[in-house]
Amino acid sequence: MRDGVARYVAMAHEEQAARRRAWQEAKKWRFDTVAVHGLYTVEEAIQRNQGAIIEPIYLATSQAYRDSDELEAALAYLIPTWCYARIANPSVYYLEWTLALLEGYGCDFETACCATSSGMSAIMSAIEPFLVRLPGKESEPINFVASAHVYGGTFQQFSVRQREKGIEVRWVQHPERVEEWAELIDEHTRFLYGELPSNPTLAFFDIAAVAELAHKHQIPLIVDSTVATPALLRPLQHGADIVVHSVTKSMTASGFGIAGAVIARKPIVTNIPNEQLREDFASYIKFLPNRDNGPNLSPMQAALTLNDLRTLRSRMDMLSENALLVAEFLESHPKVEKVSYPGLKSYPLHHLARRYMWLVDSEHDQRYREKVNRYGHLLSFCVKGGHEAARRVLDGLQRIFRATDLGRIKSVATIPAISTHQQQGEEGRKLASIPDNLIRLSVGAEHPDDIIADLDQALARV
Ligand SMILES: *Cc1c(COP(=O)(O)O)cnc(C)c1O
Repeated sequence: MRDGVARYVAMAHEEQAARRRAWQEAKKWRFDTVAVHGLYTVEEAIQRNQGAIIEPIYLATSQAYRDSDELEAALAYLIPTWCYARIANPSVYYLEWTLALLEGYGCDFETACCATSSGMSAIMSAIEPFLVRLPGKESEPINFVASAHVYGGTFQQFSVRQREKGIEVRWVQHPERVEEWAELIDEHTRFLYGELPSNPTLAFFDIAAVAELAHKHQIPLIVDSTVATPALLRPLQHGADIVVHSVTKSMTASGFGIAGAVIARKPIVTNIPNEQLREDFASYIKFLPNRDNGPNLSPMQAALTLNDLRTLRSRMDMLSENALLVAEFLESHPKVEKVSYPGLKSYPLHHLARRYMWLVDSEHDQRYREKVNRYGHLLSFCVKGGHEAARRVLDGLQRIFRATDLGRIKSVATIPAISTHQQQGEEGRKLASIPDNLIRLSVGAEHPDDIIADLDQALARV
């Protein structure tokens, strides 16, 4: 290493030590404090950002360096830097650190995050490093095992885009049955993938048991935890290796833009012989594949998302309480055939959801003083009378928006068979148990009486 480069590496030690101290400090805080502050400290504000109490938005594309030695050190990733905004950016870092801390809340291992331009690019970033041809084994088949109860876009990415590349997805139809996962794994399986609670059927599985199964085969478990958010469930704590999010949804409840994230524990379990990938998966994809493929997040979106994240816990608490009331109303309605909501006692997987879905820090909340279950904002229900009846109910909604969206501060509803899960076709929907009279409802922060009144008048039309 050139002397000049080495000098910059030595100079960076203090900055790295300060960051580590901030991280250690944040690990002692409660969830809300992490969500509000992340790693943006008073010292950093005063010394580097003119005292700004809110994380600054750096819209610049690139960072300037003092001389060629600093440039070389930075581009070799030897010093903390943000060089070029496709690779890294200070505002995006604030979001990534906060998300890594929130998903790792209560965990005694380290976590890291790579923010991405969308939930779909987060999923792509999380799976593709495992689907590479390995030296000496180029002709061997590659597969992965995934719950069939996934978001429609995920279903397409797995069954169309991966299949185009000759990679096989093996669908688990009943993810709550661990034997079904086990039967599909062979020596060519690269990872297990599940979503919970799933969109739109609220499927659930035993995370710890599926993680244990994955690790027995030296492969990681990847979980899409979009619907739960870290305020209600943190899969890494239960043994998952990697969590993906459509940050677009509950985390950016305002509805101001698309974003995604990959959060991984350090290290992960994998049978891919790649040291960097195993030791720090999120940083690996951020600095290598995503640098080359370019799906990273814009700084403006990072700031908008951070702004929404600060109130994640209290918002998920309120949305969950509203959703339970709405679910109970629908369950008792004569025109409703069936309601799926993990919080309902009638929900077949209620026992599993009850084991895993807790409002974080409720035992430290003056209102509760004990651990309380919360089940999120998403529910689905089937309307008696089939598809046309479901359309009439959807069309009758006056306050609730008809939109292919969820996790909003406003209630939104859709019929997945003709929207989010249209492309996967009837057979794909049968695999994922999505009938065409199913309405997906994401309950917002309106007063629940008004949401119920809107549903009541819409149901009166059939
Ligand atoms: C919306 C959604 C995605 C895709 O996220 P985008 O941000 O729309 O790309 C992935 N998983 C789940 C569960 C979702 O609801």
